[in-house]
Amino acid sequence: MRFDGKVALVTGASRGIGRAIASMLAAQGATVVAAARGDNAAAAVAEITAAGGQAETAALDVSDASAVAAVVGTTLERHGRIDILVNNAGITRDQLMLRMKRDDWDAVLATNLTAAFALTQAVLKPMIRQRAGRIIAISSVVGQAGNAGQANYAASKAGLMGFVKAVALEVASRNITANVVAPGMIETDMTRAITASAHEDWASKIPLKRLGTPDDVASAVCFLASDEAAYITGQVLAVNGGMYM
Ligand code: NAP
Repeated sequence: MRFDGKVALVTGASRGIGRAIASMLAAQGATVVAAARGDNAAAAVAEITAAGGQAETAALDVSDASAVAAVVGTTLERHGRIDILVNNAGITRDQLMLRMKRDDWDAVLATNLTAAFALTQAVLKPMIRQRAGRIIAISSVVGQAGNAGQANYAASKAGLMGFVKAVALEVASRNITANVVAPGMIETDMTRAITASAHEDWASKIPLKRLGTPDDVASAVCFLASDEAAYITGQVLAVNGGMYM
């Protein structure tokens, strides 16, 4: 899988899964626009360029619609195209339903779902002009199976699946594919808070007997972004060690 001459915009590229996606796409030849809040993606970009890849940071709070438009505009000015969009940025604000505050609901929906709407809408016009494009959203096993204490997160991640399928239908005739990757438990800052014993407990319940790595997810994203995946659209690819089938 090679991405030479292709431009990829990856949100949440400062850490965890997004950083692994940005690195893997760049290692295979893509020019990567690594987006995160402020200058948070600087270390990721430095690592990519030190390894001989091409990347630049973009300061982007994905919940800010005007910032989304600005980053897409700047990327198009600088590179003339956007071939791959990875909607990866995401947050949790866990709470049982009876105690969940409306702010916790709104923040998770804004970052995890509404941002994907804004970014996807912003890249569609250039992709339609190019008659090519790849849109990939990072959902979660929680969007498929639900999880107590994560009604907001589960709704946002399930929402991404319906959203991407609708987009896939709308733009298939323009040679643009849209797919979802649904990770299970992946070792990142998001899951690092769980205790060592809970960690072992989780791993024992996963058929492949381990948590996933950011690279496990990045490999699936690179495949869906590649020319080799040209005939795959509107799909949800689970990367979860078999924890939900
Ligand atoms: P993480 O380590 O907590 O990293 C989250 C990333 O999202 C960071 O790069 C962060 O950038 C960015 N982000 C958060 N809010 C943002 C905002 N408003 N604007 C721009 N960027 C923002 O999380 P992760 O585990 O890598 O998760 C990445 C994605 O995978 C998320 O969508 C998550 O829901 C999903 N996922 C994770 C797991 C898991 O087990 N880890 C499982 C299933 C799905 P800043 O530097 O700006 O904070």
